[in-house]
Amino acid sequence: MDLPDQRGFVIWFTGLSGAGKTTLAQKLKSRLERQGLNVYLLDGDVLRTGLNADLGFSPADRRENIRRAAEVARLLVEEGYCVLATFISPFHADRQKARQIIGAHRFKEVYLKCPIAICESRDVKGLYQKARAGLISDFTGIDSPYEVPDHPEVVIATDQLPVEEAVNKLYDELFDSNG
Ligand code: ADP
Repeated sequence: MDLPDQRGFVIWFTGLSGAGKTTLAQKLKSRLERQGLNVYLLDGDVLRTGLNADLGFSPADRRENIRRAAEVARLLVEEGYCVLATFISPFHADRQKARQIIGAHRFKEVYLKCPIAICESRDVKGLYQKARAGLISDFTGIDSPYEVPDHPEVVIATDQLPVEEAVNKLYDELFDSNG
């Protein structure tokens, strides 16, 4: 991708819960905003409290969750926004569909690679503990699968790098580092 500019694009973050999607998206947002871009952080957890509140975690509902997210992202992109979308999006076919809805030329997939044991030890939202206790079901990585992306544009191993280094690497790999 060229230097970031006012043309819209989507950075689609995928990975397990606790892999660092929200953390890195927030950091990248600040960085892009300092460059004068209009950035929208489209957060999976937030969408599930409103637009997608009627959906659960079955494969069909996950597919619909991602389809709606991609349609919202497309609307924003067409207005010139840089959309940072943070969704576990565990299924390859759903991520492919999102790429297709948004347009492959303005879609970059970022896989945040992190072993489940590390995500679980972070347990930012206490969800792994609940899933292990059987209080929630269909939890990705526990009793629902995560399909590792085949060809993401960027892979960041968030168990290997501190946050600031991770965001620097992310930026450099997404954009021309002369920016
Ligand atoms: P997700 O949005 O993927 O569920 P979060 O961003 O909410 O994950 O949580 C990730 C947690 O991991 C945060 O507490 C963050 O500080 C920590 N962390 C440690 N190293 C990294 C890294 N390199 N990138 C992102 N997060 C990291």
